[in-house]
Formats: sequence, C-alpha cells, structure tokens
Amino acid sequence: MQTGLQLVYKWIERNRQLGVSDDEMDGTRFVYGDTLYTIKKTGNGEFDVDHISGKIIVFRDEKELDDEYTCRICGTEYTNKIDTIRCCMNQDE
Ligand SMILES: [Zn+2]
Repeated sequence: MQTGLQLVYKWIERNRQLGVSDDEMDGTRFVYGDTLYTIKKTGNGEFDVDHISGKIIVFRDEKELDDEYTCRICGTEYTNKIDTIRCCMNQDE
C-alpha cells in the first residue's frame, strides 16, 4: 500500500480510538507529497479513500507553528521535524 494511504488509514484508526465519530471524519482531506486524499463514508462503517495526484501547493500559516513538531496522526511530540514526519510512517503497530 502507498505510504500516503497507510497514513490516512492510521489517522482514521487513531481518531476512532479517540472517539471521533465517522460523521465528523467524513470528507476529511489529506495531503501527502503531491497527492490529495479525501475520505468518504460508505454505508457499512468503512471509509472509501479517493486520491488525486498533481501539483499541490500547501500555503503555510502561523497556526502551523504550534504543531510543527507534533505527529498529525498519533499526537506524539518531537524536538525535530524529521522525526515528526517519520513517526507513523515506518512503524507498524
Ligand atoms: Zn505518530
């Protein structure tokens, strides 16, 4: 499975553990590299993941400074960017 897709599924799993409902997660979009992922609820408690690849520019704003060193999937905090990015990427739980 592609890394981006794995990260999306990990995010869904993590948010379920945190008690986020499927309705709240429905329609969430993710950017990994140059691919945009969108999750859509299916009728049977699962999510379909659509993805489109192309040129994507993510503008940064000041709000990001707060969570620059926080894994966006599991919430673990780091002291440097590369560990933050790699956090949920390589490990299988
Ligand atoms: Zn993580």
